[in-house]
Amino acid sequence: MTSYHDFYRRSIDDPAGFWAEQAQRIHWHKPFDKALQYDQPPFRDWFAGGETNLCYNAVDRHLAARGEQPALAYVSSETGIETSYSYRELHAEVTRFAAILQAQGVVKGDRVLIYMPMIPEAVFAMLATVRLGAIHSVVFGGFASASLATRIEDATPKVMVTADAGIRGGKVIAYKPLVDEALTLAGSCAPGKVIVVNRGLTEAPMMKPGRDLDYAALVDAHRDERAEVTWVESNHPSYILYTSGTTGKPKGVQRDTGGYAVALAASMDYIYGGQPGECYFSTSDIGWVVGHSYIVYGPLLNGMTTLVYEGLPIRPDAGIWWQLVEKYKVTVMFSAPTAIRVLKKQDPAWLHKYDLSSLRALFLAGEPLDEPTASWIAAELQVPVLDNYWQTETGWPMLTLCNGVEPKAVKYGSPGLPVYGFNVKLFNEATGEEVGPGEKGVIGVIPPLPPGCMSTIWQQDQRFVDTYFSLFPDKLVYSSFDWGIKDQDGYFTILGRTDDVINVAGHRLGTREIEEAVSSHSAIAEVAVVGVEDSLKGQVPKAFAVVKNPALLDDPAQRAALEKEVIAQVAAQLGAIANPARVYFVNQLPKTRSGKVLRRSIQALAEGRDPGDLTTLDDPAGIEQIRQSIAQA
Ligand code: ATP
Ligand code: MG
Repeated sequence: MTSYHDFYRRSIDDPAGFWAEQAQRIHWHKPFDKALQYDQPPFRDWFAGGETNLCYNAVDRHLAARGEQPALAYVSSETGIETSYSYRELHAEVTRFAAILQAQGVVKGDRVLIYMPMIPEAVFAMLATVRLGAIHSVVFGGFASASLATRIEDATPKVMVTADAGIRGGKVIAYKPLVDEALTLAGSCAPGKVIVVNRGLTEAPMMKPGRDLDYAALVDAHRDERAEVTWVESNHPSYILYTSGTTGKPKGVQRDTGGYAVALAASMDYIYGGQPGECYFSTSDIGWVVGHSYIVYGPLLNGMTTLVYEGLPIRPDAGIWWQLVEKYKVTVMFSAPTAIRVLKKQDPAWLHKYDLSSLRALFLAGEPLDEPTASWIAAELQVPVLDNYWQTETGWPMLTLCNGVEPKAVKYGSPGLPVYGFNVKLFNEATGEEVGPGEKGVIGVIPPLPPGCMSTIWQQDQRFVDTYFSLFPDKLVYSSFDWGIKDQDGYFTILGRTDDVINVAGHRLGTREIEEAVSSHSAIAEVAVVGVEDSLKGQVPKAFAVVKNPALLDDPAQRAALEKEVIAQVAAQLGAIANPARVYFVNQLPKTRSGKVLRRSIQALAEGRDPGDLTTLDDPAGIEQIRQSIAQA
């Protein structure tokens, strides 16, 4: 790379030429006719006419050079199981799994719904599905039956793959009864066949004759069968994946095949700097986009070993991740700010107990990465910590610092610069004008969206256009629904979601601005700020804060004093306009399963409304705490 600026410029000025070069990173069964077809904006086809296959590129292609190298290393701190599959062994598992799916009638274009815990079979199922040109819809394991049912209804899968149970923090969560309930709810949309991987975590699950099939028995029956690759056109869908549901009804993001493979392969080089043969450790779950892109496809497309981990970061102790980094010589690690905040509360000695010299960088995504968290973990690990800003929709990062950025200057609190391929701009929502440095605006991308981004919303093309491209009547801009600002050097800072922007007497404030001011108080561990209706000012901010030392709150006088201090601190940092009208203290915030604060529900409760759709809520206690704190005040 000459300079990042030139590299980026070329990706925007000549997207077809730029990506045609990147496309050489993967195997094409038939070369594409046209790198970019863009005659029906905002829809675009990458590598039109080309034929390829995700599974072939992730597995088969590596057999010759690295057949005996570990492809998938698996560790469960919940069950104590630790295994590893070489590329050759992975190939055997996946091709057999594909044969099993084929035997159940799965053909190109059919959907396979995967509702699984973090076990190797989940990865086999994903790869087996795309091998056949079928489309997977992975639903985060542990979602309640109603959430699962809506996703079944949307995808109408032919086959479902599930397990007897998941396990989290030592607690077994039986999946099969949830699945049975969801299948009943889904009625005629329910798949005809359900493959059950029995981990032996529960009493033998109820198996419905004719519908439910035991995976181990299928493996026996199809032991020597292997399914060939089904080549698909580059724009053939590889999967459907729902957004986290933080702002409301999740959207079924549809991903293509060739563009996705090319984008991920390139990102392994320009963003993550992972080399074939090395080990990549992403602590996410296959139920989220990070899991799809950076547990399964990215590392395997790049010939790396992917480390698949089932368990918490603090069990059996807070050193577990670092123990794995040492043992597997992890070079690239990917996690979320929320997990790092959990570790920050633990004894830092755990970080120094293991040899972490293999590690080159830590990438974090999913929520704003605040400066104190970023600088703490960077100092502890002594490696660069990079904030990746992206969405389920984009499939890979749209803001970060790429390899080759000169000078590679990280500014904590900011993910950095637009990533090659993404023409990211900030817009004034009212006028549609681009805003300059220092002005707040909605983060948008001028299409065509680069390879790897969503093709559409599954079976809802119109909803895709209406949802993402109708920010302005007279120009086509992809809306991220996030609110941001950039500095003189072009570095972006994410200020929160556009839905959560707080409008106090005409001043617009991002939730993040006030949250950072609140959490800079030494007594505060975590906080969510929401805008609450106010007859005088339109809206006023209210804060819900978790304190580091809950004992502090037993004394009403101390509580009141702390509230005053926090309010004074916000006033000092941001001006009185941003002052929270109230600071409520709680032990826990309501979060989604993927670790994001559910501000819309907090806001609804603060305004005396119903909290709305709570299906993505992780722990009901979080929402109960908000309710109680308001009632007590
Ligand atoms: P839904 O779209 O269903 O409401 P969601 O937006 O939480 O849910 P995801 O696609 O999982 O679903 O999350 C993407 C969002 O997460 C981004 O739009 C942004 O709000 C937030 N986000 C992700 N990474 C970062 C980051 N590095 N910094 C700040 N915010 C981030
Ligand atoms: Mg979103």
